[in-house]
Amino acid sequence: MARLHEFEGKRLLSGRGLEVPRGSIACSPDEAEAAAIALGGACVVKVQAWTTGRKALGGVALVETAREARHAAARMLGMQVGNFAVDRVLVEERVEIARELFVSMYIDDAARAPRILLSLSGGSGVEARGDAAMRLECDPLDGVNEAELAGVLRRSDLSEPEREAVAEAVRQVFAVARAHEARSVEINPLAILRDGRVVAADCRVTIDDYAVFRHPDLGIEIARELDHPPTVLERIAYRVEQADHRGTFYFAQLNTKPEIGSKGLVGFHGAGGGGSMMSMDAITNAGFTIANFCDTSGNPSAAKVYRAARIILSQPGLCGYFGSGSGVASQEQFWSAYGLAKAFWELNLDIPVVIRLGGNAEDRAVEILESVGATVPATIEGYRKDDPPRKIADRFAALVAGSVRGEWRSRRARVPAFVGSARSYAINGGTVWLDEASCDAEATAMVVRHGAGLFDSREGRPALAVGEDELRSKDSELIACEVECRRGGRPVVFVELEIEGLD
Ligand code: GDP
Ligand code: MN
Repeated sequence: MARLHEFEGKRLLSGRGLEVPRGSIACSPDEAEAAAIALGGACVVKVQAWTTGRKALGGVALVETAREARHAAARMLGMQVGNFAVDRVLVEERVEIARELFVSMYIDDAARAPRILLSLSGGSGVEARGDAAMRLECDPLDGVNEAELAGVLRRSDLSEPEREAVAEAVRQVFAVARAHEARSVEINPLAILRDGRVVAADCRVTIDDYAVFRHPDLGIEIARELDHPPTVLERIAYRVEQADHRGTFYFAQLNTKPEIGSKGLVGFHGAGGGGSMMSMDAITNAGFTIANFCDTSGNPSAAKVYRAARIILSQPGLCGYFGSGSGVASQEQFWSAYGLAKAFWELNLDIPVVIRLGGNAEDRAVEILESVGATVPATIEGYRKDDPPRKIADRFAALVAGSVRGEWRSRRARVPAFVGSARSYAINGGTVWLDEASCDAEATAMVVRHGAGLFDSREGRPALAVGEDELRSKDSELIACEVECRRGGRPVVFVELEIEGLD
């Protein structure tokens, strides 16, 4: 879930005609003072951080003068909220609140429909107080059930103009959510002012991760709910996910050091939501600290799994690489095996690897994966759906305990000597190299056999059997061909894949 800051949410609301307090963002005490002067001195200074209950944290200050605004900003900037350092505050017009209401739209997953939650008393901490809130039905297209809304407001103690303003706020909350594919939009408080105006005094919006790319105007850098500012590797991983929509790839860094008493820091690679979680628990229960959470699933391309592995292995200090997923995946597991095999070979891996590739064609997947072990110093073991995560986590622990090579140090990926001079073709996100000079009859036959119809034999050498345009999207097939030729002792194909920011 991607979250917007309060002022961004308010911008969406005011764009729909809903009244919000005037104000602006300040990133320094100077800017806060200037913003306060523009508002006439008295104002509210608020931390912009993804949390509720800022008031209780000292993140909301009602001040009388611009100098006080400056001091409040100086105190708030740099404040730590969770793992985030506050780097901006909102300086806003002070409003005289007579009554606080609460309105939110959220997606009811069980009902598979949007709902409006409306409470006629709101304010900081309403979640904990659990004040009677009314749940209103919504049509996904038309919005709130108007008859139901009118009924609720009629039975309330609000005046007629207040009822109309609240009804309009409810409609606009829905409209904002629908236009930006939000999972939730919340106004707390929706404030009725002493002069009768109704304004949104606070706003929280979360956007569906899978919709973020359709809304570049929101300026969301990473469509993930992270509990820390995005790291360099997380940004790199996110770009990989954005550039390749085959399957999904999620990556979050969690620890850079093993916890005290831990058996070591593990590069974790899950495959398939629930299975990933179970596997993560298994490795944690076996006494390890995971460096990262990663999930590649939904039929990911070999290229995507390759890039995921490279990113995981950019973390220093790992004692091993542990992969495990749902175990009953219907997609052919060997595509993931090819991606992993390529990454492990390029990095000349020397830490233990345990990977469970359960599901369709798992025998072939395990065979491909384990064959890399012959070309690198690492012990690499593959497992199948009948091997429970707990068992393979124990096996991983035994391998790590017996390993003599020590911690992983990040390193450059190796490439064959012919890269740079051999025949090459451009593909999406990289280049494929073909070492024609080394292609005897046997190597040529191997390229053709494992080339998925992309190559045939001409004058005893492999030649493109498809147009160069068609070749572009065949990165996964080419990775398979590369790995198979290396396995067959004829390493004449190499797929060079870019990972923006990593190389
Ligand atoms: P939160 O604690 O993170 O939810 O931050 P809010 O922005 O909702 O502010 C918390 C509370 O501060 C609100 O519920 C109001 O009671 C109060 N507050 C915020 N802005 C104003 C304002 O302009 N005038 C007045 N009188 N109170 C305000
Ligand atoms: Mn609030």
